[in-house]
Amino acid sequence: MNTTEVPTQVRRVVIAGGGTAGWIAAAALSRQLEGVLDVTLVESDEIGTVGVGESTIPPLRVFHKLMKIDEQEFMRGTEATFKLGILFENWRKQGDHYIHSFGRNGKSTWLCEFHHFWLHGLARGIQSELGDYCLELQAAKAGKFATSPQLDLNYAYHLDATVYARFLRKFSEKHGIKRVEGKIRQVKQHAESGFIESLVLESGQVIEGDFFIDCTGFRGLLIEQTLKTGYEDWTHWLPCDSAVPVQTESVGPPAPYTRVIAHEAGWRWRIPLQHRVGNGLVYCSRYMSDDDATRKLLQDVEGRTLIEPRVIRFRTGRRRQAWNKNVLALGLASGFHEPLESTSIHLIITGITRLMQLFPFSGVTQAFVDQYNRESQAEAEKIRDFIVLHYKATERDDSPFWRHCASMAIPDTLAQRIEMFRESAHAYQLDAELFRVDSWAQVMLGQGITPRHYHQVTKMMSDQDLVRFLGGMKAQIAQVVERLPAHQDFIDQYCKSVRETVDG
Ligand SMILES: Cc1cc2nc3c(=O)[nH]c(=O)nc-3n(C[C@H](O)[C@H](O)[C@H](O)COP(=O)(O)OP(=O)(O)OC[C@H]3O[C@@H](n4cnc5c(N)ncnc54)[C@H](O)[C@@H]3O)c2cc1C
Repeated sequence: MNTTEVPTQVRRVVIAGGGTAGWIAAAALSRQLEGVLDVTLVESDEIGTVGVGESTIPPLRVFHKLMKIDEQEFMRGTEATFKLGILFENWRKQGDHYIHSFGRNGKSTWLCEFHHFWLHGLARGIQSELGDYCLELQAAKAGKFATSPQLDLNYAYHLDATVYARFLRKFSEKHGIKRVEGKIRQVKQHAESGFIESLVLESGQVIEGDFFIDCTGFRGLLIEQTLKTGYEDWTHWLPCDSAVPVQTESVGPPAPYTRVIAHEAGWRWRIPLQHRVGNGLVYCSRYMSDDDATRKLLQDVEGRTLIEPRVIRFRTGRRRQAWNKNVLALGLASGFHEPLESTSIHLIITGITRLMQLFPFSGVTQAFVDQYNRESQAEAEKIRDFIVLHYKATERDDSPFWRHCASMAIPDTLAQRIEMFRESAHAYQLDAELFRVDSWAQVMLGQGITPRHYHQVTKMMSDQDLVRFLGGMKAQIAQVVERLPAHQDFIDQYCKSVRETVDG
């Protein structure tokens, strides 16, 4: 490279960091572009990984299919269980609960979604819950699961995050990734362009590259500490800023869903794996101290604890540019929504996929960078709105935290969605938006937003037809669920992990 130009050929890619983000990036690049790119990953055993991130969403299965990762092998290797959705407890008010499942609600028409027909049914005296018309939700409630070519359930996984990174490491190394262990001491930039040229390790080893992927976690060693890219803070909309995770022994068969239980200053997760349970308390440090959070967590978890709880601090928001010069940030280095809807691993996958689609083989071009950043921003903001909804739409007023959430200002984009749903039950999925209408409807209703009106096309169905339509669907779903095996039984025959003992 001469003194004024940025690299015109991008062949050497360096991934800084080997957490979930680093190894997902490594797996994707090595599997899809093996032989085209020369990829090196640097990670530091001394620093370690954040080690959480165990609840996923269905698009992970698409990623695995593209990588040709065998599901049973993956599940055995990562102690995984199946996930059909999330059970929200005490969010709308104490004692209340609802499931946000991955399934479709009933059958929609081109003119309006199914939940309008359900609302019409309620108005005509047909008592039921929207969830009665969703197969995944009913299976989750019954603790049942199966997958087969005849049964198209939409599901994801609960997995052991540390083991998953190891699993992907093995996979990536098989496809030609070079791994270097060592702590990055210095990041060298081109004197004029500011592009990154190399990473210098504590050992003195220099790793040169044409393109760098920053997967160094919250610290953002390249994207922030070196390039000073800037961070858009969302704390005023997503106020939780701390988490304290702990693992416990299983005390019963795993449920095929994640539990998220609201408490006075945040919420607690419970993620059942094959060999243990992942738990954690998420909270806002303005309303709860670290000591109180840890005490509360240990009081509320079931089963013997397997590790010492430790506090993780985070700031919700996004990096102003996910791609800056010749650096792309992925994972926690690119921002964090908070874990409520299990979206972080998904964003790593869409981030690396987008890079591969726009890959700067012949040099970094600003138009591509801008396009990448526009798409990432739009994606992140829609997910943000969905998560903010859970905090904003609450009837809880039993603590300063929930009073703050209920009264806080929210993004205009979300305010518009809430207003449209409240007025006419209208929910929508924008272009390239992760959450479907089914998700918006389940969560809006679950959080207590009751529509005043619904689509009048529903009135074209006679009461008799409506009873037959709704009743038939509900009965059919109940029959399918009845025949499903218990989640634990299905795991035992399909993907039981060989490990017999719990190692924490
Ligand atoms: C409390 C909490 C709960 C979460 N729950 C979920 C969930 O349920 N579902 C979900 O999808 N996501 C979840 N996430 C997010 C998920 O954990 C992360 O997206 C994921 O683990 C990616 O982390 P990472 O790889 O970006 O960072 P990290 O795991 O922090 O990895 C950083 C890597 O960079 C390396 N590194 C850093 N500095 C240096 C250096 N100087 N030299 C060399 N190497 C260095 C480290 O060694 C490490 O390998 C959660 C996150 C938190 C905080």
